[in-house]
Amino acid sequence: MDTPLTPVSVREVGLRDGLQSIARTLPTAQKIEWLRAAHAAGQREIEVGSFVPARLLPQLADTAEIVAAAKTLPGLVASVLVPNLKGALAALDSGADAMLLPLSASHAHSLANLRKTPDEAVADIGRIRAERDARGARCEIEVGLSTAFGCTLQGKVEEAEVLRLLQAALDAGAERVGLADTVGYADPLQVRRLFEKGFAIAGERLSCGHFHDTRGLGLANVFAAWQVGVRRFDACLGGIGGCPHAPGASGNVATEDVAYLFASMGVPTGLDFDALIALRGRVGQWLEGEALHGSIARAGLPKTLQKEPA
Ligand code: ZN
Repeated sequence: MDTPLTPVSVREVGLRDGLQSIARTLPTAQKIEWLRAAHAAGQREIEVGSFVPARLLPQLADTAEIVAAAKTLPGLVASVLVPNLKGALAALDSGADAMLLPLSASHAHSLANLRKTPDEAVADIGRIRAERDARGARCEIEVGLSTAFGCTLQGKVEEAEVLRLLQAALDAGAERVGLADTVGYADPLQVRRLFEKGFAIAGERLSCGHFHDTRGLGLANVFAAWQVGVRRFDACLGGIGGCPHAPGASGNVATEDVAYLFASMGVPTGLDFDALIALRGRVGQWLEGEALHGSIARAGLPKTLQKEPA
């Protein structure tokens, strides 16, 4: 008899990573509908928004309201992205379960995105951890190491620099870390190598893979990371969240395709396909005119797929 495979969790980042790269603002009521439907489809970790100034990202200005809605859903871990201490304080005030702090491995991306060097961003992690602890708040601190596999501004990002920053983030107080291919430059062997080296430093605290399908290697990279032990992945319903440097390209790997990848191998995710595909249709209507990506919604599930018992 086969031994049961360890479940994989798929964190939905469409409400943050996806929507922040789409110019139009989705009304709060529709975001809450998305949130509830994603939860009903089995998603138990959802990045619901970002605490950045509304003038920079008006699309996410209602993040506190979305966190409040998320808190009413049983068993849901609601995370928010925060770029600095001010955002972290807002996250703590909101009662979010986790905050994701971006740390660019590329110096050029860090300056462009956060207007800080990577080491200045690491110092912020320490301040945020101190503030969280001083408040006695239960909000997990996760650092997402972005541009870990290459950068559109800088080009190559040295592995040694990624690993140095991974260690620095942990030393500064991050409780979890993840590696992100922010611009879709990674290849599967590179993913395998960097995660293996990352595990040697961070152990189980390295617990997220964030891949974009910009150049068609998104699922191959998810698979490569899974093979070396990653059991938690970010994804966006409909693969929204394209890259501003690659117009027309798809963005994050599509939630429903990642769910299918694991289902096809008999790895449980707890996700309900029919519910995900129905939700994708609604999100597609709300975002009419925006391109949705992904294969399984177009082709449908194969008759041979063994669905997880509900
Ligand atoms: Zn992304």
